[in-house]
Amino acid sequence: MTHVITSLCLRDNGCVSVCPVECIQPGEPETQWPTFYIDPATCIDCGACVPECPYHAIFLEDETPKAYRAKGGEFINQSGLTGHYEGVNHDGKKIVLNTTRALTVGEVIDLTPSIKENAKFFK
Ligand code: SF4
Ligand code: SF4
Repeated sequence: MTHVITSLCLRDNGCVSVCPVECIQPGEPETQWPTFYIDPATCIDCGACVPECPYHAIFLEDETPKAYRAKGGEFINQSGLTGHYEGVNHDGKKIVLNTTRALTVGEVIDLTPSIKENAKFFK
């Protein structure tokens, strides 16, 4: 088992410093690996990262929603998308992303493909 960062991640950086085993890494290059990722071989499932994410992007692998219903105002961040997002991260630095799409209220999306993406990033 592991925790998974899903495509709701907007690279806020808030989760990285709380991980006791330092297994959360930013994806690079951003166009190919647009979110942050959790190394499944190292994660000890402590759950410390979950409340740190302002976008509620982190789930226990088994609880990653197949049918996530958007509340509105969220973005997904995935390779191949072309929407523009600008914000400020946990450290006060400007974040600019061009791999996003704004979700509409009530829209249902499958977040489980992020499970494979997390694993692939560390291969
Ligand atoms: S805190 Fe959330 S948005 Fe920020 S890097 Fe971690 S998972 Fe991504
Ligand atoms: S669950 Fe714990 S060990 Fe796993 S990524 Fe989050 S903080 Fe790190």
